[in-house]
Amino acid sequence: MLSRIKDIAATLAPRLIEIRRHIHSHPELSGQEYQTAAYVAGVLSSCGLHVQELVGKTGVVGELAGTGADRRLLAIRTDMDALPIQERTELEFASHQPGIMHACGHDVHTTIGLGTAMILSQLDEPLPGKIRFLFQPAEETAQGASWMIRDGVMDGVNAILGVHVFPTIPGGSVGIRYGALTAAADDMEILIRGESGHGARPHEAIDAIWIASQVITTLQQAISRTQNPLRPVVLTIGQIQGGRAPNVIADQVRLLGTVRSLHPETSAALPAWIENIVATVCQTYGAKHKLNYRRGVPSVQNDPTLTQLVEEAAEAAWGTERVQILLEPSLGAEDFSLYLDHAPGTMFRLGVGFPDQPNYPLHHPQFQVNETSIITGVVTMAYAAYQYWQRG
Ligand SMILES: [Zn+2]
Ligand SMILES: [Zn+2]
Repeated sequence: MLSRIKDIAATLAPRLIEIRRHIHSHPELSGQEYQTAAYVAGVLSSCGLHVQELVGKTGVVGELAGTGADRRLLAIRTDMDALPIQERTELEFASHQPGIMHACGHDVHTTIGLGTAMILSQLDEPLPGKIRFLFQPAEETAQGASWMIRDGVMDGVNAILGVHVFPTIPGGSVGIRYGALTAAADDMEILIRGESGHGARPHEAIDAIWIASQVITTLQQAISRTQNPLRPVVLTIGQIQGGRAPNVIADQVRLLGTVRSLHPETSAALPAWIENIVATVCQTYGAKHKLNYRRGVPSVQNDPTLTQLVEEAAEAAWGTERVQILLEPSLGAEDFSLYLDHAPGTMFRLGVGFPDQPNYPLHHPQFQVNETSIITGVVTMAYAAYQYWQRG
């Protein structure tokens, strides 16, 4: 079956590159993927899939029902949105939309979802089980997965596979990660209220700026002394607002930040931990405070059995030298994690690096993809999916 899948993929290669370039040159922002969704629905329909549009706002779902006895339903998730970035590549198929760019490789992910559907619909024998392709919108704003789930895309799903491109892995190689792949990412706002006063008479005021600086310093020091160093926490205050004049003590400060962690228990305990530190510092110096903590997405925790399934599929297809076991997770975030509340799953990294030109990071205006990776991604996904039903 692997050689059959590889043969179909080789025949499809020019078409897949054409699809990827079309999507790349027509990027759409999160929640506005109307053209992309219509294009995806057209390709899926032409492969004979049962297609539903406008799922999760601008998402698309395609289903292929096997005739085999295996009733297990496998989902494959890809994302379709682009970023508000002005593309600065010299590519002939660069973005036609000013200020919008596929700089996170979601054009490649969408192509891999379509290519996998094309291959699995062209096998000589019927599929052993059922497969559902999820093309989600708005991954960059961490909204799309929850929209799709609300519309029932995970109903009946037994397992889910995902993929994300990675420029520091060579094109044509696959990165496999056991355990945590990405971080939980939450937002927080800390409001500190003191009392205004003359800049020369601090004892008559409650200096909200100085107290805010104590809060920030204490939070950063407390991470190193009270959080398990083997369970990382990153807390970044990226924005401070407060004060009106150089000689007037500020009565209010607003701190805005992001909080990242990898372990679910750590993540669960963070709001109370932050609240306690902020409250203690503020009370010590007589200020009032309010913490608004907003949960973002949880950490992607790859399921060991499914991760092994993808690893073995990639090794069978490409040899062990093109499969890297990733020793470290990323502190980036990915809303694929929300699907994992409903079924076990795994996301692999697809290398898209070039051997002979600079590899810019994701979200960079010069980010580029080594297109040889598209076949690697499609074959890995299609063969891993097929193998899913071969296992008990
Ligand atoms: Zn991104
Ligand atoms: Zn992305």
